Amino acid sequence: MAEQFDVVVIGAGPAGYHAAIRAAQLGLKTACIDAALGKDGKPALGGTCLRVGCIPSKALLDSSRQYWNMGHIFGDHGISFKDAKMDVEAMVGRKDKIVKQFTGGIAMLFKANKVAAYYGFGELQKDNVVKVTQHDGSIVELKGTNVIIAAGSDSIELPFARFDGETIVDNVGGLDFTEVPKRLAVIGAGVIGLELGSVWKRLGAEVTILEALPDFLAAADAEVGKVALKEFKKQGLDIKLGAKVSKAEVTGKGKKAEVALTYTDGEGEKSLVVDKLLVAVGRRAATKGLLAEGTGVKINERGQIEVDAHCHTGVNGVWAGGGCGRGPLRGPAG
Ligand SMILES: Cc1cc2nc3c(=O)[nH]c(=O)nc-3n(C[C@H](O)[C@H](O)[C@H](O)COP(=O)(O)OP(=O)(O)OC[C@H]3O[C@@H](n4cnc5c(N)ncnc54)[C@H](O)[C@@H]3O)c2cc1C
Repeated sequence: MAEQFDVVVIGAGPAGYHAAIRAAQLGLKTACIDAALGKDGKPALGGTCLRVGCIPSKALLDSSRQYWNMGHIFGDHGISFKDAKMDVEAMVGRKDKIVKQFTGGIAMLFKANKVAAYYGFGELQKDNVVKVTQHDGSIVELKGTNVIIAAGSDSIELPFARFDGETIVDNVGGLDFTEVPKRLAVIGAGVIGLELGSVWKRLGAEVTILEALPDFLAAADAEVGKVALKEFKKQGLDIKLGAKVSKAEVTGKGKKAEVALTYTDGEGEKSLVVDKLLVAVGRRAATKGLLAEGTGVKINERGQIEVDAHCHTGVNGVWAGGGCGRGPLRGPAG
């Protein structure tokens, strides 16, 4: 028999944990389910943002900026130094510590606000029941007068450049290189590709960004895009616009692995060989295995959960928000 809650939230990223905590603060009996594990193999709340997104990327941007300033800015202040070294393991360790503090903070907030945390994979069934397959394999069923789906998103994989977690990576691998790659290519000049490209460039990698679109940061204000392009180039990023990648072949293993890329730009077909490839071509709603038959929740042509202006799915008591719904930065009209 399913345990009854006023609100059951699937996903404890920024969309889900805020919703769960607020619902509990309003006096509603609330559960929140999350499937994610941290680097230590233990459940980690906070979603992409806290584990492998906004927070860790800013931690590495901060560290890499300190290093960059040392070589490029300190001299202006009359500060000189000798034999400075970059310890990548220590830098990534600092990032991991920050992530652990933040994800642990959400667990504490859940406790303080009496949100019942369930660690496992949630699947919405008919009649607002969520089946949770917990990490030990046991199954529990929760029934919500309201169910909020906040399952977030996953990286989009290119068919010719499958993630292997080592040589071809997404944001997860790109936040965890154990040393500075000598040559790094990034497919996609969006915010994720630019942030992580910047981190490794500042630490000494040769970074080439390949962007299929002819315009830089096409979705941003044109003036912002122009200034940003100038700044990134000044930093040393080799940004190739209108460069469409069609092939990525990995040869060698471990430290000897290389990726041979084929891309086409206005001048024809070109090739590029790098040590690591970061694919950052966008993210898609994490709906795989989320909805059982007959829930009535619809997925739109962009793969997102269909919602109205109030984040309602059209199914009584079922709502969706964050990256798996309309996505960020969009108001009711958009
Ligand atoms: C490298 C990087 C940097 C970024 N930097 C920024 C930034 O600076 N500023 C910004 O605004 N945004 C940034 N973003 C985007 C931001 O991370 C997302 O917009 C945000 O995380 C979306 O929140 P969410 O709650 O919808 O989903 P998520 O944060 O993805 O959380 C969803 C959670 O649901 C869990 N889940 C999914 N399906 C199930 C299921 N069926 N059962 C149980 N649990 C499930 C997932 O494990 C995950 O923990 C960045 C993203 C990346 C990758």
